[in-house]
Amino acid sequence: MIDSYNRRINYLRISVTDLCNLRCRYCMPNKGIDKMSHSDVLTLEEIETIAKVFVELGVDKIRITGGEPLVRRGILGLIENIGNLEGVKDFAITTNAIMLKKYAKQLKDAGVNRVNISLDTLDEKKYEYITRGGQLKDTLDGIKEAQEVGLTPIKLNTVLIRGFNDDEIDDLVNLTNDGIDVRFIELMPIGEARNWAIHNFISNEYVLEKVENLEEIKRDDINSPANYYKLSGAKGKVGLINPISCKFCSNCNRVRLTSDGKLKLCLHSEEEIDLKTPIRNGEDIKTLIIDAISKKPKEHHLENGEYITRNMIAIGG
Ligand code: SAM
Ligand code: SF4
Repeated sequence: MIDSYNRRINYLRISVTDLCNLRCRYCMPNKGIDKMSHSDVLTLEEIETIAKVFVELGVDKIRITGGEPLVRRGILGLIENIGNLEGVKDFAITTNAIMLKKYAKQLKDAGVNRVNISLDTLDEKKYEYITRGGQLKDTLDGIKEAQEVGLTPIKLNTVLIRGFNDDEIDDLVNLTNDGIDVRFIELMPIGEARNWAIHNFISNEYVLEKVENLEEIKRDDINSPANYYKLSGAKGKVGLINPISCKFCSNCNRVRLTSDGKLKLCLHSEEEIDLKTPIRNGEDIKTLIIDAISKKPKEHHLENGEYITRNMIAIGG
C-alpha cells in the first residue's frame, strides 16, 4: 500500500492487550488505567482476521506488542497463526521479558524471528522504581533465555530519562560487546504521563556526547527510525531513536492496531479508525483499510505541543 506521500506502508504493529505485569512511569498513569470491558477487546480470531487482510494488502512486517503481549491468554496460538500467514517476512515481538524465561523457546518455535526487550536500567532498585515494582532479575533471566534459544539479534529498548539512567549510558552501551543491540529512545510526552515525560526529557544527542568513540554506521533499513552507531570491535549496534529531536516521518512505513480494534495511522495523532465494529458486522474491511491508508498524516507536530491523550500502554509502542 502506498499512501498519499508516496510512503510504502508494509509494517503493522498489533497491540494484543492493554494489560501489563509492570507499570512503567512513562507508559501508564500512577492510578493504573480503567479496565476495558471484555467485549471491547478484539478476540484472537478478530486480530488474526485483521492481520490477514493487512498481509493480503502487502504488509510483510508484523510486530506483536501491548501492554505486555505475553500476559494475553492464548497469545502463543495467535503468534503461530500470524507467523504462518504467507507473506509475513519479518515477525517480531516487543516485551518487557518478565515472562520470557518461560516463553522464549515457544515463541521461537511459533515463528517469531526477533525480540525487542525494554530495559531502562541495570540497577535493581532503579528498575523497581521505574517499573513500579518489577524485578530486574526476571528481565535479565528472560534476556538470557532468549539468547540461549537463538531468538536473536536481541534489541534492547532503553528510554533515556534525565536524572534516572543518564549515568548508565556507558554500561548500557557496553552490552553491545556481547552482541546485543541497544537502542536509546527519547522519552515521548504521551497520555497522562506527558508532564512527567516533558520534565524528564533528555535528547539522545547526550548519548553521543557521553560516549565519544561511537562511529556512525550505514543503516541497513531506511524505514528504521533508528540511526545506528558502533563501538569499535563490538558485535552489537547502538541505535538512537529520536522522535522528538529529529523526525523520521518521511520514512514512516507503519500503522498500529490497538487491542480495542482502532487503527492508528500515526502514533502521535488522535485520529483512530474503528475496525472492530465493521469486522463484527461482517463488512469488507479491505476497502476501509485502503481508504484509511490514503489519509495517513504527513507528519506529527510534537514540536507544537500537540500531544495525544491515549496512554502508551493502550496504544502499543
Ligand atoms: N510491554 C512491552 C515492553 O515494555 O516492551 C511492550 C509495550 S511498550 C508500550 C513498548 C515500548 O514503548 C517500550 O520499549 C517502552 O519503553 C516504550 N514506551 C512506552 N512509553 C513510552 C514513552 N512515553 N516514551 C518513549 N517510549 C515509551
Ligand atoms: Fe508495561 Fe511495557 Fe508499558 Fe512498561 S512500557 S508499563 S512493560 S507496556
